[in-house]
Amino acid sequence: MKLAIVLFKNNLRIDDNYSLYNACKDSDFVLGLYSLEVLKGKIYDFEKCNIFREKFIKESLICLKNNLLKYNINLSIVDDIDKSLEKLSKSYEITIYYDEEVGTQEKTFEEKLQKYKYKSFFSQTMIEPFVFDYKKSFSHFRKKAEKQHISKTLDEIPRKKTVDFKSLDIEIPKLEIDNPNAIIFKGGENEALVRLQNYLPKIHYYKTTRNEMSGFENSTKFSPYLAIGCISPRRIYEKIKEEEEETHQSDSSYWIYFELLWRDFFHLVMKYSGNKLFLKSGIKEINYNFRKNKKTFDSFFNASLGVDLIDASINELKTTGWLSNRNRQIVSSYFIKNLGLDWRVGAGFFESFLVDYNPASNYGNWAYQAHIGNDSSYRVFDIEKQKQMYNGNDYIKKWLNKENSKLNIDYKEMVEIIRKEVFLE
Ligand code: FAD
Repeated sequence: MKLAIVLFKNNLRIDDNYSLYNACKDSDFVLGLYSLEVLKGKIYDFEKCNIFREKFIKESLICLKNNLLKYNINLSIVDDIDKSLEKLSKSYEITIYYDEEVGTQEKTFEEKLQKYKYKSFFSQTMIEPFVFDYKKSFSHFRKKAEKQHISKTLDEIPRKKTVDFKSLDIEIPKLEIDNPNAIIFKGGENEALVRLQNYLPKIHYYKTTRNEMSGFENSTKFSPYLAIGCISPRRIYEKIKEEEEETHQSDSSYWIYFELLWRDFFHLVMKYSGNKLFLKSGIKEINYNFRKNKKTFDSFFNASLGVDLIDASINELKTTGWLSNRNRQIVSSYFIKNLGLDWRVGAGFFESFLVDYNPASNYGNWAYQAHIGNDSSYRVFDIEKQKQMYNGNDYIKKWLNKENSKLNIDYKEMVEIIRKEVFLE
C-alpha cells in the first residue's frame, strides 16, 4: 500500500500547509508524524526548550491531532523519528512530505530523509524566496522584496481514507505563574486564527504601540504561532489585505507587513548563508575578543546585575517565556556592547526561554545586535532614554517589584571600553 507521510515540524497546521496539501493531493492514505526530539537537549548550560515552549508546542500538537482527525488523518507523535520511518518503510511504500527549514540542525535532519522517496517544499516565508546578497542590509533586501510575489493561500485539503497508527500520548506540563501581568500563550492553530481575527480591528494602531515594553494588545503577538507554523504568514497577509479593503490602508497596517518582511529577511539570510549566523564571526566574518567573565554571566542570568531594566527583563523572560521586541533589543545590546559577552551564549539563553523561538529570527537578531550580522552601524541602546520613552519605570515596578533607580555606573565610558577591547575598533 502507498502511504504519504507528512513530517510535521514547524508547520503545525492544516491551513495553507504545502506538504500536507500535496500529500493529500497525491495519495489516498496520509499519516502525520511528529517527533518530540525537538524538546530535548542542551544549548550551552540551558535546556534547549523550556517549559513555556514545551507547553505551547504540546497544546499545538493536540489541536493539530484533533483537526487532522476531521480529515481522517492520524497524527503519530513519536520519540524517535528515524526508527519510526524505518519501520513504516518496511510495511508500506512510503513517500515523505516535509517543509524545508533554514537552521543547520534542521538541514542535517532533512539530509537523512533523502534515502527515502520524498517531496519537499519551502513555505516558511510570506514572500516567494529570491536570491539577494545576504551580507547586505535589510533595506537592500526590502526594496526587492516588496516587488516579490506572495502566493495565494491553498484550498482546503480533501478528506482521506483512514489509517490507524499507535501514537504516543503527550502530557501538557503545568505552569504556575502568579504574576497577573504575565503574557501566557495557548498553543494551536485554532488559537492562532482567533488571535488573528481579534487583532484585525487593531491594525491601524499597530505602529504607535508596537514599541511598548508591556501590554498584550500593543503588538500582534503572532510570533509564537508563526514560529511553529500554527499559522502561515500568507494567511496573515491575506487577512490584513481583506481588512484594509473593508476599512482603509494605513501606515500601521503597512508596518505589520514590513515587520513580517524582517522575519522573511532573517529566514532567507539564514537559508543562503549556511551556518554563518551560528558562528562567532557571523556573516561579516570578523574576529572578536569577547569577555569570559563568569561572575558577570551569572549576574546577568540571575537578574542581579543591578541594572533595573535588564534585571526586570530577565525576570519577565525567565518566568513567562516572553519579552517584547523593545526589551529583546535592549537586553541583547547590553549583553554584547555593555558587558562585552559572547553573543552566542545570549542567543542560546533566548533560545532556551523564548516561547516564540525560531533559529532565523533569534540568531539573525542577535547577530545584528552583535555587529556581525546585517547591521550597518554600531548602535548602542541608551537604557535611561529607553526607560523614559517606553514606560520603563512601570515595567521595572512590574517585574522587579521596586521603584526605578538610576544607573550608578558610567554607562558611556563602559560602552567605549568594550568597543575598543572587544570590537577592536
Ligand atoms: P509584532 O511587532 O506584532 O510583529 C509582527 C510579526 O513580525 C512578528 O510576529 C514577527 O513574526 C515579525 N517580526 C517583528 N519584528 C521582527 C524582527 N525584529 N525580526 C524578525 N521578525 C520580526 N522573533 C521570533 O519570532 N523568534 C525569536 O526567536 C526572536 N528572537 C529575537 C531575539 C532578539 C535579540 C531580538 C531583538 C528580536 C527577536 N525576535 C524574535 C523578533 C521580535 O522581537 C519578535 O518577533 C516580536 O517581538 C514578536 O512579537 P509580536 O508577534 O507581537 O511582533
